[in-house]
Amino acid sequence: MRQRPRRLRRTEAIRRLVAETRLHPDQFVFPLFVVPGRGIREPIPSLPGQFHFSSDTVVAEAAEARDEGVRAVLLFGEPEVKDDLGRSAADSNGPVQQAVRALKRELPDLVVMTDVCLCAYTTHGHCGVVGDDQTVLNDATLPLLAEVAVSHAEAGADVVAPSDMMDGRVGAIRGALDAAGLGDTVIMAYSAKYASAFYGPFREAVDSAPQFGDRRSYQMAYPNRREAVREARLDADEGADIIMVKPALAYLDVIAEVRAAVDRPVAAYNVSGEYAMVKAAANRGWVDERAVTMEILTAIARAGADLIITYHAREAARWLKE
Ligand SMILES: [Zn+2]
Repeated sequence: MRQRPRRLRRTEAIRRLVAETRLHPDQFVFPLFVVPGRGIREPIPSLPGQFHFSSDTVVAEAAEARDEGVRAVLLFGEPEVKDDLGRSAADSNGPVQQAVRALKRELPDLVVMTDVCLCAYTTHGHCGVVGDDQTVLNDATLPLLAEVAVSHAEAGADVVAPSDMMDGRVGAIRGALDAAGLGDTVIMAYSAKYASAFYGPFREAVDSAPQFGDRRSYQMAYPNRREAVREARLDADEGADIIMVKPALAYLDVIAEVRAAVDRPVAAYNVSGEYAMVKAAANRGWVDERAVTMEILTAIARAGADLIITYHAREAARWLKE
């Protein structure tokens, strides 16, 4: 037979030789949760295998990850105090800013990324300023986000990652960074961030569930794909260096469309709910965690993601070495 595709599937070595997609720990970003205090390393119940760290203990975790080949981390913070405007997010001595300084001091070659948003810092749990009629005010939020991004960059963050989904925030942050002499700080924009039920375990981890309403007036609606391309192009035009799609697994078509539409690196966030489902099913013996995880991560890369933000980063890096 002239056409016999099975020839290329005959042995493991041949299959590896012709693999169209290859995972490498270099493309992984490991999310880390930092809280106030010292000496803290507490398990997060909704995210098995993940912890709350203080800015001192997070260094050891990042060092272990780096030794396993994971060279980038993405920090999320939980503050001591919350207010209406999320002011503590820009505190130069907040947990994230302290963790950034500690990480860059001890592990200078680690890529330190920070999530930039207000929802973990506001009493109402929304990602922006809330007006009298309970709507989230876009333009009033921009200077606050810019202030947060500058405080992270001043602490030494290599990459700031706005996740709020306000219009125009990438441009506002780029302008503020440049004005502060931080022209080399990279912006990774959560460009196509969908209002998703897959964020549940994360919200428990940072206590950021909205106290009223939901985030559907600013995060994207999941039936939409063209709109994701529009968001990605707008962010690229405003100066985003990396474009992100979030979540990943139920949005592989969106990753592929965005990859084709923009000339920036594309990141995909393999979110908490995706991770928790694998962990829960594996825990019951219903799926093989390693096999399922590698299949999911490879599928995300195959769809077009250059970077993959995943709670499985360390385990996957170890598995790739075996
Ligand atoms: Zn937020």
